[in-house]
Amino acid sequence: MPINFALTSGQVKRAVETVINNKPAYSDMLGFYGRLFVAQEESNSRLQIEPLRIQDDVRAVKAREKFPLIEIQDFAYDKVESANLFATLCNLAKEASPKLAADAAAILKAEDKVIIPGELFSGLLNGDDALYEKIAGKLDIADTTLGFITYNSLKPSLSVCADQLSSYLNKEDPWLKGYCPICGSPPVLSILEGSGGRSLICSFCWHPWSVQRVFCPYCENRDGKTQHYFYNEGEKEFRVELCDGCKKYLKALDSRETERMIYPPLEQISSLHLDYKATEMGYASGIQLAMPA
Ligand SMILES: [Zn+2]
Ligand SMILES: [Zn+2]
Repeated sequence: MPINFALTSGQVKRAVETVINNKPAYSDMLGFYGRLFVAQEESNSRLQIEPLRIQDDVRAVKAREKFPLIEIQDFAYDKVESANLFATLCNLAKEASPKLAADAAAILKAEDKVIIPGELFSGLLNGDDALYEKIAGKLDIADTTLGFITYNSLKPSLSVCADQLSSYLNKEDPWLKGYCPICGSPPVLSILEGSGGRSLICSFCWHPWSVQRVFCPYCENRDGKTQHYFYNEGEKEFRVELCDGCKKYLKALDSRETERMIYPPLEQISSLHLDYKATEMGYASGIQLAMPA
């Protein structure tokens, strides 16, 4: 059985508290992220998104050619709710790290014609980096902060849209590729399930999909001799999968090694020490780590 990642905001709150108890070093960072996750889950329940439709013949071609169902710019999102969440997250960020807090304060103080959430949302989905540089320059803030808050405002919509689209995927024909069947993005996490199955989680829309146990999603290496992993004693639920084919790593969560409720965005943030360790060992992340400046 695949693990259910759809947690209520109350469950997310408890999941964050459990991790803070286990890893006090993360308490400052998770204080902020915990509130961000809860705001996202609360926003989730208010979303209104008209499901995207994909015609049967288009779907058949995509399935045969292993093309993702949509392009990033096709994602549907709730403009009003995402704009509300944008303001909420800017306010929450005022209690984050000093740099993020200062940038968020500048965004909140900016004139309406400088910060237009709808423009930021479509700019993000269309990969318009120049727009971000322009606005960040005007406000003297980091464009990564602007991207971080914008992405996190859209994230509940992206996940709902992906979930709606997943009804178009053929459950009898597992995807088995290294990129998301919904949007084509690379994975952020690998989840080992109790049944012995393995899922990857999309770094953009957070959709989970099944893959083989021995498989590097970044170079499609299936040779067990050039793939290995490490883990820290005392934190056996995490392992870091290393591929010598492409010298990239992917963090994995072994659900058989923990009773905790698994919330992938929380697992990703509360295991950043493993990213540092893997990088020190000479492996690169297969994704751009979405962290504020
Ligand atoms: Zn995706
Ligand atoms: Zn590889």
